[in-house]
Amino acid sequence: MSPTDTPRPRVLSGIQPDFSLHLGNYLGALRNWARDQDRFENYFCIVDLHALTQHPDPERLRALTLELAAMYMACGLDPKRCEIFVQSHVPAHSQLCWILETLTPMGWLDRMTQFKARSQAQGRERINTGVFTYPVLQAADILLYRGDLVPVGEDQVPHVEIAREIARRFNAQYGPVFPEPEPKLTHFPRLPGLDGLDRKMSKSAGNTILLSDPPATILARMKTAVTDPQKVRRNDPGRPEICLVERYHRKFNAAEVAEIDAGCRSGALGCVECKTRIAAAVADHLAPFREKRERLAARPAEVGAILASGEDRARARARSTMEQVRAVMHMG
Ligand code: ADP
Repeated sequence: MSPTDTPRPRVLSGIQPDFSLHLGNYLGALRNWARDQDRFENYFCIVDLHALTQHPDPERLRALTLELAAMYMACGLDPKRCEIFVQSHVPAHSQLCWILETLTPMGWLDRMTQFKARSQAQGRERINTGVFTYPVLQAADILLYRGDLVPVGEDQVPHVEIAREIARRFNAQYGPVFPEPEPKLTHFPRLPGLDGLDRKMSKSAGNTILLSDPPATILARMKTAVTDPQKVRRNDPGRPEICLVERYHRKFNAAEVAEIDAGCRSGALGCVECKTRIAAAVADHLAPFREKRERLAARPAEVGAILASGEDRARARARSTMEQVRAVMHMG
């Protein structure tokens, strides 16, 4: 990001520090962020303010924040090429959020699927207001850095649309400050969970393999994966095309997938062996992340220093945006 570089589109994304990352997060988000980091100017945030909507224990939130920072880097985000920082360390997120809330009709937020799901589960009267205004804070996260692109899965597209609408409203009301951000759809939107091909791997569904899981846990988790219900006994012929475990072989053990398919079809390969082999392949795949994460976890001061320098640069960018916001609003 030297000043002599030609300007690159600016990308902003973030994950909540509310859980350890799972394989779906890696394939659907972090792997893409890391692969594309030279093409963009990158802001990767740890969105701890968003996590507050779930009332986390403060110490656990702090630990998960540091863990997520270590995991970002273990997955290949390079602090020399990306700003990695914690959302709450840049107060302008909340300041801009308030201004944007005054431009956001409640009807837009009422329609958001995630709000609807949580208000159905917990009751609209009791749910905290942060769950409702969550997309406005997301809009502030993006617009504060004047992000051009937001790498997201399909389920997040409506939130980027709201950010676009809010940017448009602000620009129309006060003056042209914000570009309208575009969603950048991930190449791999949906890794199925261990409970079925039609289920998305998701922290809330309890169907995950975590990036930090050691090999024994990966094997134990993989053994719970659902398989072809027609393959009851070891030697029964199976249908790899409908088998979840085969999908994992495709992703993590491509070299052996033809042999796995043939063995499954003929009945020569039992589900236990098939799962043992994929568990070993996934463990091999994750070994470098686990090692790098463990190295970083043992050096919290180093992670803290990286977050501090990300924060400095994020604050500088945020300050310049807020100066323009205040100028067009005559609040200077
Ligand atoms: P979760 O669905 O477990 O709550 P998040 O919503 O925190 O995960 O997702 C963080 C990022 O990881 C998002 O960009 C999301 O699209 C991606 N992601 C999450 N689960 C998967 C999955 N099963 N397959 C592909 N990408 C995923």
